[in-house]
Amino acid sequence: MNVTIPATKADWQAMAETLIPHLESRAFIDDAFVAAASGETFATVNPATGETLARVASCDAADAELAVSCARAAHVRGEWSRLAPGRRKQVLLKLAELMEAHQHELALLDTLDMGKPISSSLGDINGAIGCLRYTAEGIDKLYGEVAPTGEDSLALVLREPIGVVAAIVPWNFPLMMTAWKIAPALAAGNSVILKPSEKSPLSALRLASLAREAGLPRGVFQVLPGFGHTVGKALALSMQVDCLAFTGSTQVGKQLMQYAGQSNLKRVYLECGGKSPNLVFADCKDLDRVASHAAAAIFHNQGEVCIAGSRLLVENAIREVFVDKVVEAAKAMQPGDPLDPGSFMGAMVDKTQYRRVLDYIAKGREEGARLRAGGQALESPGLFIPPTIFDGVTPAMTIGREEIFGPVLSVFGFDTEEEAIAMANDSDYGLAAGLWSQDIDRIMRLSRRLHSGQVFVNNWAGPDMTVPFGGVKQSGNGRDKSLHALTEYTELKTVWMALAP
Ligand code: NAD
Repeated sequence: MNVTIPATKADWQAMAETLIPHLESRAFIDDAFVAAASGETFATVNPATGETLARVASCDAADAELAVSCARAAHVRGEWSRLAPGRRKQVLLKLAELMEAHQHELALLDTLDMGKPISSSLGDINGAIGCLRYTAEGIDKLYGEVAPTGEDSLALVLREPIGVVAAIVPWNFPLMMTAWKIAPALAAGNSVILKPSEKSPLSALRLASLAREAGLPRGVFQVLPGFGHTVGKALALSMQVDCLAFTGSTQVGKQLMQYAGQSNLKRVYLECGGKSPNLVFADCKDLDRVASHAAAAIFHNQGEVCIAGSRLLVENAIREVFVDKVVEAAKAMQPGDPLDPGSFMGAMVDKTQYRRVLDYIAKGREEGARLRAGGQALESPGLFIPPTIFDGVTPAMTIGREEIFGPVLSVFGFDTEEEAIAMANDSDYGLAAGLWSQDIDRIMRLSRRLHSGQVFVNNWAGPDMTVPFGGVKQSGNGRDKSLHALTEYTELKTVWMALAP
């Protein structure tokens, strides 16, 4: 579509009105947009207004079977899997260029579909484009190996595509989570079937048409919208899918491992939930700055973030003062119209998630935590919940242990470093942890002892593509971003040659 750069809420609204009647809502299978084989559709709804945006093809096992056979056929034909990495790079760079040209439209689709603020969606799209570029640039710099054998042989260790990869992704960063999976999987030469969340399918379908325009060959990239228990499960159980790349809840991650065991032992990479601790020590120099980062660490994206800093652990010597500052910082982070570029938070993704968050807030009150901010939904037809802060949370409380995936912060107090580290590590999850201190010895000591895939020191979250992103324990076993993600989507093959004397 023709784009003038939107700058105001009115611009975005006008763009939405033009866009909505022309949304692509069909599945993308074998280079064509098609209805689901069953003809079934489901509604995708704007959570800020309650408006149905489109009825989207509801794929099931029959569509999965067709897409998998097309993906396998493409892999065997080799137009992509055997293409020189440098040529694959050119196609993916072209896709990044097209995404950049359509960035406003893509951002708007995510905002309309799942309620996040438009400023956030623009950041996500930039992240997705950056991921594609970084990964495309990496693929023709990845070398195989010559093994250190004796002189009577030559052993090569080659990296090959795995085959057919099914990428199953969530709704909280629809296009960015997609890019983190499909960029390395495609760059490595695999055929990829994307199953977007049923709560946010629109940007993935738009991406399919851009991928076709960029020159990805038939069957190499396909998109199957639909539900987890139908099309998602069918992909996970397929004997012809070689790898599952998943981002989503721990509960579904566990199911995928079972499906892999029941079928063909496909590889399963999991990026799952979190309940990340954010440790603040009394020696911090600028408590206002730390408080504003601590608030953003949980309230960004309405708290619908896997690495949200949802457990704030504060040294008791500064706790009272510090929590006041966090409450103050949160006042500037209220939810607003997602199409307003000034909104920091938007709407919760759907009624289920909205009720779930409100139930956790009720539980926090019942279990005796002290409510310091928020605590009830805004009076609005949209699904808005303000920043909510509970102090005096203990590890025994439900809101202190379970992933809420909403704008609810649980504050704990500690007196000693030992107490802080024990509390931080007392979780089923291990996705991220934050550490705020001026003491370099403490920083190094605790960075090592925090049982977590990522430790953020005197900041929260590093957006750079160069670093791996992923967790330990029940937060998963995969790594997105960086060259480590790229190698995950390759298979190692040994070629052993005996040399004549
Ligand atoms: P979810 O697990 O409900 O769904 C994720 C995807 O799995 C969706 O596409 C869904 O349709 C599909 N699915 C559901 N059941 C399935 C089944 N039986 N078989 C196959 N597929 C199935 O998660 P969600 O609500 O979309 O996302 C929120 C969760 O994602 C949170 O727990 C959050 O922490 C996690 N998350 C993790 C990361 C990370 O990088 N670690 C990033 C974003 C979100």
